[in-house]
Amino acid sequence: MAVKILLIEDEEKIARFTELELVHEGYEVEKAFDGRTGLDRAESGDFDLILLDIMLPELSGLEVLRRLRRTSDVPVIMLTARDAVMDKVSGLDAGADDYITKPFAIEELLARIRVIFKKRNKDERETHILEAKGVVMDLDRHEVTCRGEIIQLNHREYELVKTLMENKNYVMNREQLMNDVCGYNYVGESNVIDVYVRYIRAKIDDHFKMKFITTVRGVGYAIKDE
Ligand code: CA
Repeated sequence: MAVKILLIEDEEKIARFTELELVHEGYEVEKAFDGRTGLDRAESGDFDLILLDIMLPELSGLEVLRRLRRTSDVPVIMLTARDAVMDKVSGLDAGADDYITKPFAIEELLARIRVIFKKRNKDERETHILEAKGVVMDLDRHEVTCRGEIIQLNHREYELVKTLMENKNYVMNREQLMNDVCGYNYVGESNVIDVYVRYIRAKIDDHFKMKFITTVRGVGYAIKDE
């Protein structure tokens, strides 16, 4: 499926030229010529990347970006006027991923787009699968497996394993684990984490004859996988 780019730019010549080049590279492009229409289209979630001019009629590019960031983390490259340092700073502050100064060489824009997609793909690979000691946690599918076998964990057991795997090789104390697993406002037995660890050990350590969660005496727990 083609990567979809939304180009929000009121200067029709620049918009048309940029569109032609992007389409030539295999991207699918939709144009919007003012901030309000651009924001509407951007919020639809139909796009993989937004190219956003700053000086726009109806709503400025910065305002579009601010509003968009309330609901979306779609990558945004700002198109700024030459030497408009304030625009660049404000754009990055408001959550832009990158900016490019007009007039720009199309090769430079293409290179920046490639960098953003490369980084996104890497982030996704790194954050959606956790692995330690042969236990694999697929965060998209909400599934934990070991040696191809699915491990059934309840919600809090799952959150506890996730926290320990995200902090692999670090010792987490009971308070940190309570916050992550039960929420900051949790009021209850302080040994609740020990109870969950016992359940998890029955399902993983005992079942697969391994040492998954390590107790660090007087401190807390860790998954050590060095
Ligand atoms: Ca403009």
